[in-house]
Amino acid sequence: MLVRRFMATSVKPAVSKTGSTTLSDILIVGAGPAGLTLASAIKNSPVLQDLKCMLVESSRITEDMNDYYASPPKYYSNRCVSITPATIDYLKKIGTWNFIKEERIQNYDYIKTYDGLSGAAMDFDAPSMGTLIENYNLQAAAYERVLQLNEEQPENKLVIKDGNKVTHIATDSETGCPVVKLASEEKIRTRLLIGCDGGRSPVRKFAQIPSRGWAYNRWGIVGTLKYKDTGFRSPTGWQRFLPTGPLAQLPMPDDYLSIVWSVPPELAMIVSGLTDDQFVLMLNAASRLTQDELEVLYKLARDKPEQFEKEAKWRLDMFNAKLTTESEQQYPQEIESIVPKSRGRFPLKLSHADDYVDERIALVGDAAHTTHPLAGQGLNMGQADIQCLVKTLETARERGLDYGTKFALDPYFSSRYPVNNATLGVVDKIHKIYGTDFAPIVCARSLGVNILNNLPFIKDLMVGQVSHRELEKR
Ligand SMILES: Cc1cc2nc3c(=O)[nH]c(=O)nc-3n(C[C@H](O)[C@H](O)[C@H](O)COP(=O)(O)OP(=O)(O)OC[C@H]3O[C@@H](n4cnc5c(N)ncnc54)[C@H](O)[C@@H]3O)c2cc1C
Repeated sequence: MLVRRFMATSVKPAVSKTGSTTLSDILIVGAGPAGLTLASAIKNSPVLQDLKCMLVESSRITEDMNDYYASPPKYYSNRCVSITPATIDYLKKIGTWNFIKEERIQNYDYIKTYDGLSGAAMDFDAPSMGTLIENYNLQAAAYERVLQLNEEQPENKLVIKDGNKVTHIATDSETGCPVVKLASEEKIRTRLLIGCDGGRSPVRKFAQIPSRGWAYNRWGIVGTLKYKDTGFRSPTGWQRFLPTGPLAQLPMPDDYLSIVWSVPPELAMIVSGLTDDQFVLMLNAASRLTQDELEVLYKLARDKPEQFEKEAKWRLDMFNAKLTTESEQQYPQEIESIVPKSRGRFPLKLSHADDYVDERIALVGDAAHTTHPLAGQGLNMGQADIQCLVKTLETARERGLDYGTKFALDPYFSSRYPVNNATLGVVDKIHKIYGTDFAPIVCARSLGVNILNNLPFIKDLMVGQVSHRELEKR
């Protein structure tokens, strides 16, 4: 096979114009958590930082990030993610973690999962096994790191064009490079186009890379809430597997929590119709009451909302009255209130691109894969993609290869695809195994969970996998 080789000199000047076309070496589309982290990682790399790099985003991200960093909002945003120690290590390595607002994150050492039908429970514990963080906190830190690197290397500034949607992508017939057209009518020709542009990635569509998967027919309801009080409990993540979908409660500082409740569309409609106080009651019920009782409450909330509140309070009081000091520890504390207007919902989908690279194209993060949030892996997978892609680009440059070719980019795909595919598969199976009330499966999964809970070695292995501790060692 003929390998095209050349000394990868950069197109200079970075943002020079040929006619009305701007030239860049690397163009990243999307300034979500993946795009901004990638931008800071490239600019942090001694091997890549002289490349002329641009970032394009349709929303007004620079304004939002400046505002967040200068004066963070009083309440936590409803878009929070659980990040792994491996993700944190990488953010530290590239200097982004220095800009994280640590007073707004929460480490947790425990996750307690329990089955909404059988009650079978499994506890995971490991020091700082997860850290809850607002997406904005992560994005603002990466943005600040880019600004810092821009100041340190004024000759290699990363240019951010926000409030500017990519409207069209074509291939330049002379060079074979992608040419991206923005809403402002500006055109940018680039040697490497990286799609960090989310699940509906325009870059992936341009490259005609098929993406396979299915909708979960579930909405992920999110919100920021506050516990009544945490007493002496250490910050703990909770996940109750209901047949309709899991309810995750993840701790934020000062007794706040972030929830992700996966529900079918009919239930999402019912829950969305509740007032804030009713919603809090419904969440407390969903973390404690039996499935039969919940069915009664769902029906009341739909058909007779005026009776729902009284019935839910009565059932919760009955339940709480029976709790002992010991049994109380098996449930999350009661939620007291919700931050106004913090409720949101997102459709949940599994998708996986057949390839992450093509000639002058790479896909990263949700552009390459989306997963059910029950294991908190989506963003973490994207961060691991970034780590691998940056390493791949560095290797290509060190070897004098054209880093934009599929040949140079292929190691990124071959390293990340199998790992991501395995994670997507495992998460999908957990969703399926827990999404049923078929008695033999409920029985089998509960038996399995009870056995596993008494096998510390296996549990440690599972924690290692979920927190990527083991994966990164490979
Ligand atoms: C309810 C829920 C809970 C989750 N919890 C977790 C968790 O606990 N842990 C975890 O690891 N992951 C979690 N995830 C997944 C995580 O949120 C995503 O994987 C992550 O946010 C994806 O980041 P991204 O940068 O790849 O994509 P996105 O955040 O989707 O960013 C894409 C960016 O591209 C921009 N863009 C798109 N099209 C264009 C265009 N044409 N022109 C210019 N810009 C464009 C968009 O405006 C956007 O800013 C959760 C997801 C959901 C829905």
